[in-house]
Amino acid sequence: MLQIVKYPDPILESECQEVAFPLSEEDKELIADMIATMDSVQGAGLAANQVGVSKKICVIKMIKKHKRVKTENLVLINPKIIMESAVRCLFPEGCLSLPGKYYYVERPCNIIVQYQDENGKIRKLQANKFLSSQIQHEVDHLYGIFYTSKAREEIK
Ligand SMILES: [Zn+2]
Repeated sequence: MLQIVKYPDPILESECQEVAFPLSEEDKELIADMIATMDSVQGAGLAANQVGVSKKICVIKMIKKHKRVKTENLVLINPKIIMESAVRCLFPEGCLSLPGKYYYVERPCNIIVQYQDENGKIRKLQANKFLSSQIQHEVDHLYGIFYTSKAREEIK
């Protein structure tokens, strides 16, 4: 389990470095450890700079509801948001780097994120609702944007 960096640590407000392919063993280990850490604290997502590593890698817990609820780990490497809807939503969010606090954050409701998977393949994913807020929150981390800077109001 990795140590989670707490706000306000400067690494949380610094843009992370692009990741080169093929992934190094160190990067593969980091991804596995990030997923284990996210699971151990029941987090919805985790960015590499939240565990003290300045690399554009984040992991997201994706909840899939089909016949039964199951989860899947989404690994986004070098992600960028390439489409944002003009329509905006107010999302309730929390962050593992600021435990016990929750804020409403205004963001585009729907987005398309482009990223590389663990094999370096470029992929695109369209997201709305909770997944959209999860992805935007984690991608913001990788660009050094801490979510309180976008927060509208604290949820008590
Ligand atoms: Zn966060």
